[in-house]
Amino acid sequence: MSKNNLLIKIPKIGLGTWKMDNDKVYEVVLKAIKLGYRYIDCAWEYENEEGVGKALKEAIEQKIVKREELFIVTKLWNTYHRKDLVEKNIHDSLKKLNLTYVDLYLIHWPLAFKPGDDPYPRIEGHIQYDKVPLHETWEGMEDLVTKKLTRYIGVSNFPSILLHDLIQSCKIKPVVNQIESHIYLQQNDLIKWCQKNDIIVQAYSPLGGNYDYGSTVKDNKFEHPLKNKKIMELAQKKNCSNSDIIYAWHNQRGDKYSVVSKSEKDDRLKRALDIMEGKSGIILTDEEMEIIANEDKNLRLNDAAKVFWEIPSFE
Ligand code: NAP
Repeated sequence: MSKNNLLIKIPKIGLGTWKMDNDKVYEVVLKAIKLGYRYIDCAWEYENEEGVGKALKEAIEQKIVKREELFIVTKLWNTYHRKDLVEKNIHDSLKKLNLTYVDLYLIHWPLAFKPGDDPYPRIEGHIQYDKVPLHETWEGMEDLVTKKLTRYIGVSNFPSILLHDLIQSCKIKPVVNQIESHIYLQQNDLIKWCQKNDIIVQAYSPLGGNYDYGSTVKDNKFEHPLKNKKIMELAQKKNCSNSDIIYAWHNQRGDKYSVVSKSEKDDRLKRALDIMEGKSGIILTDEEMEIIANEDKNLRLNDAAKVFWEIPSFE
């Protein structure tokens, strides 16, 4: 793969694995594979890769799926950004996942934390940052492709300015940028930029996630996207569910665009897969797409700036 790599093809929907323990994720991953999911989105930081690995092993041994039919993704954690630590982190993930390679490895956040056993190293409550430039971490990521520990590499939570910079010095281009995107944080400019530069966008928390809207949003002004008035009106008009409308909207956001979503329930998993594979027959008109476009509130819920980024102390 060269810097001008051809665009890879990935499923329009992946199963998210965040906020599930090992037992639950084992059950859900196995169920999702049986339902037809092929893309599984993991992360070292989710602390449940063993559960995913158990499900993958079982699915492959029982011949429900072949390894090469799966597209397994996991992510480099912030405490492993030094070039010599990148490989250590993927090896740990691979061991837990029962795999010899992943299909895609992402830099989880463009933030380097001090290395060590604590994934969130703090002193007196303040996160301890590391002085590692992103191009150094990326060189470590490129080595993983050479060593065949991952087929592709990409990023997550990157704004276009950082991607622009990365592309100038990289040998292997990132194939994916996984970002928060839902009806309240549409990120149209970033998405357009990525698509134009042949970087596939993966929208996470596509339904709006299960964040605490009340605590994140001042005065609790917004309903969860699934209870949004315009979404409910469209659902009523089209005689389908609110989540159907949101998935249909995602599905019509163009090529080089996909979602990673999470559900523990069979019917929800199946329905999301059908809509994202275009099998539901739900099609939104330009006017209906516009109604949803107008619901954008630039409302970031998984906000690193709020969660991690304080005035860093580099002493
Ligand atoms: P999401 O998929 O938008 O929302 C999941 C929540 O919605 C769950 O509580 C789920 O509950 C519920 N749900 C699912 N389908 C539904 C339906 N049809 N009707 C009503 N409720 C429904 O958001 P997410 O879990 O935040 O994000 C998805 C995945 O993206 C994560 O699992 C993770 O893999 C990835 N992610 C990546 C990052 C990153 O930094 N790269 C950050 C966040 C998330 P049930 O399980 O009960 O159905």
